[in-house]
Amino acid sequence: MSSSVIDLLATEARFGAQNYQPIGVVLTRGEGVWVWDIEGNRYLDCLSAYSAVSQGHCHPKILAAMVEQAGRLTLTSRAFHNDQLALFYEEIAALTGSHKVLPMNSGAEAVESAIKSVRKWGYEVKGVADGQAEIIVCADNFHGRTLGIVGFSTDAETRGHFGPFAPGFKIIPFGDAAALDAAITPNTVAFLVEPIQGEAGVIIPPAGYFTEVRELCTANNVMLVLDEIQTGLGRTGKLLAEQHEGIEADVTLLGKALSGGFYPVSAVLSNNDVLGTLRPGQHGSTFGGNPLACAVARAAMRVLVEEGMIENAATQGARFLQGLKDIRANTIRDVRGRGLMLAVELHPEAGRARRYCEALQGKGILAKDTHEHTIRIAPPLVITSDQVDWALEQFATILTQDFS
Ligand SMILES: *Cc1c(COP(=O)(O)O)cnc(C)c1O
Repeated sequence: MSSSVIDLLATEARFGAQNYQPIGVVLTRGEGVWVWDIEGNRYLDCLSAYSAVSQGHCHPKILAAMVEQAGRLTLTSRAFHNDQLALFYEEIAALTGSHKVLPMNSGAEAVESAIKSVRKWGYEVKGVADGQAEIIVCADNFHGRTLGIVGFSTDAETRGHFGPFAPGFKIIPFGDAAALDAAITPNTVAFLVEPIQGEAGVIIPPAGYFTEVRELCTANNVMLVLDEIQTGLGRTGKLLAEQHEGIEADVTLLGKALSGGFYPVSAVLSNNDVLGTLRPGQHGSTFGGNPLACAVARAAMRVLVEEGMIENAATQGARFLQGLKDIRANTIRDVRGRGLMLAVELHPEAGRARRYCEALQGKGILAKDTHEHTIRIAPPLVITSDQVDWALEQFATILTQDFS
């Protein structure tokens, strides 16, 4: 059977739900920062599966851990103990300074689990009347795709015709501490927020925002829940993005790079009694905390630290950002980023970002547009200076063209 690009795309279109509109490249292999399509063309991956492949494609040490564990024991369910879970707990707690860990699979599940946990904490510890708990979230948030989560999205595409939605969420502008102050009531149990809004277009809040947020949450006994599913594990040049402002969340959510792209692994981490409110039978997941996931996550965390990927994200991120800023092109409206979480926002008149991403494909770079006019750039954290410089040449070539 021939599997040309055309055939595969036609088959996908015929059988698959059309909930994505991928760029027309069919990938078959990956190694480090590189991926190859079925025709043998090589690309620098500047998306890293939305930051899930931070350790680089098919990292040999994560692969070895996965293969070894897969041949021994993959799933026990939490009805029994397995010999990887305790070690995973110990290592993720040591890495992040957390006291309690709840292992889940997808990022959205970690978010849902955090929502359930902070509500329970609100009723059982804070003393909010049953059914009255409020959670504050930000406009333009992205926390996943489950029903609970899309119910408090402000994006019409994300919410449209999926209702009715659960009550109990209040939406305030991102980066506005006064709005948080005004929104908190005695029934507020948590503020759920991304340190940097990734899907919204790499939106970085004003300096000092999270310091104020931390103070407001502490003063009002409100749990600060940081969704670090995209920003965490080195992406912004620090282990956790909260470290840029020297604060500590009460609840931290990790996912994506927690498995280096091998397997869905997420976790809710808490520094206090939020997770302590969960009793046997009150929450769970068949796959959450399975030995394969734990072995993969342990290896993914280990290589991140041992191979200096977090420091490299800071160094190469600064180089990439400066290089993008140095590109003189009237298509560019703004360049921003922290670590290797970068974005180029185009002038609305410059045409859709998608066109630029398609042109970048022709230059051997895979990047993803977001919100019409923004190109998001997030290569694996193992990228080298030479690779950054090469990527910058391609970006310069494409950004100085006009696709309007
Ligand atoms: C990707 C992402 C999620 C959802 O993770 P899934 O694994 O896709 O469910 C949640 N929050 C943020 C900030 C993300 O980037």
